[in-house]
Amino acid sequence: MYCADTIVAPATPPGRGAVAIVRLSGPEAAAIARQLFQATSGPALRSRRLVHGRLVDDGRPIDEALCAFMPGPNSYTGEDTVEFQCHGSPLVVEQVVAAAMARGARAAGPGEFTRRAVLNGRMDLVQAEAVADLISATVAGGARQAWEQLQGALSGRLAELRSVIVEVLAEVEANVDFSDEELPEERLELRADRLAAVDAGLSALLEGFAVARRQREGHRVVFCGRPNVGKSSLVNALLGHGRMIVTAEAGTTRDSVEEGVDLGGMALVLVDTAGLRTATGEAETEAVERARRLAEDADIRILVVDRSVPLEDEDRETAGLCAAGPSLLVVNKCDLPATLTDDQTAALAGSCQVMMTSAIDGRGTDELAAALIGLAGQASEQDTVVVSRARHRSAIERARLCLGQAFDLASGPAAHELVALELREAAHELSGITEVLDNEEVLDRIFSEFCIGK
Ligand code: GDP
Repeated sequence: MYCADTIVAPATPPGRGAVAIVRLSGPEAAAIARQLFQATSGPALRSRRLVHGRLVDDGRPIDEALCAFMPGPNSYTGEDTVEFQCHGSPLVVEQVVAAAMARGARAAGPGEFTRRAVLNGRMDLVQAEAVADLISATVAGGARQAWEQLQGALSGRLAELRSVIVEVLAEVEANVDFSDEELPEERLELRADRLAAVDAGLSALLEGFAVARRQREGHRVVFCGRPNVGKSSLVNALLGHGRMIVTAEAGTTRDSVEEGVDLGGMALVLVDTAGLRTATGEAETEAVERARRLAEDADIRILVVDRSVPLEDEDRETAGLCAAGPSLLVVNKCDLPATLTDDQTAALAGSCQVMMTSAIDGRGTDELAAALIGLAGQASEQDTVVVSRARHRSAIERARLCLGQAFDLASGPAAHELVALELREAAHELSGITEVLDNEEVLDRIFSEFCIGK
């Protein structure tokens, strides 16, 4: 059992509300709570029962409240935990926290309750990260993903794959005194097959990384095209069709404007590359280069052209960018007399779907929204076990490198010790995703993202 002092913090967000919760956890939680809470009848603390009474500081009443006592080790933190439900007044909350601190509790740091839960074995690191993800989710897909992870979907998958590595490792170690030539052929083949299966499992998890990001942050839809074709106007028209999502993080791309929107339950990030507009020839090439990078990173690309003016090389160049994955060709300004012919449009579109729109009178924008929802839906079909964080991804990549080394070594004249070393390293990398190994830094990094009181 991780042994610590007693911490206190509001568990509800700052500000006024109907109810606020103040949480205490640690060896002195019960003793402190008994000094602060007078039950209307009976004992102040009853295990896993909600008790009515009032909060007092040296006999002076602070508020009417409910008190819940969750004794360790079966509490969120694994320690004795007490929660007071008082009125949602910042002043009351402040007084309760101060009264607890005057009796020996310390103000909790960000995520300290969850950190204790991890250190006491109540959840693993991946589940703790899922708690933070669930709290900060802005779209339903992200919340669902965090929930799956909190239930142990990823942890379980990693444990399965790791256990196969450990089995093979045990076998290799048992044979340290023999050379591979002395082992029966089929045993060696079986060993190789098992490691290949682990590698395939890890690789499948990595493939889920992009899917996870899309679910959590939304599908990135990048609008490309020449200046003035109507990209910003189309983005605005689409934003008008959906519910705006307040994204947890500000847009990371300097050269573009990003807006999160929920279109028909599908989270999309609309990326307007209008900022790419430049004047001189040389700089234009650079603008196309930047658009290329945005288009490559996109989940869905939309090439916008203006039907009322002739095509230019830049339109064809941008069409080339859209070959990178799911794309739509939007022929805009259909309210104006047409200059582009159907043949020209078809040649530009290649195999991607063509939408005719006018951002000014709104025609075709419903169809554009529907097409986007369709493309995003196709990209969302996936396994529920996904790798959601860069930390998991890099550990899995390192584990795969070690597995690859073990594989190569095992097929050569190398000593069993070297193979075992690589396998041990691979297993260690996978353990580090869920377990606190020897690295406080990882813990600090994970919990720095948490809010106080969680
Ligand atoms: P962007 O540079 O590609 O982002 O284009 P904007 O959205 O800024 O539009 C450039 C100009 O074209 C603005 O004056 C818009 O009002 C106009 N515009 C955009 N879409 C349409 C359209 O469908 N029809 C017409 N007639 N004008 C449009």
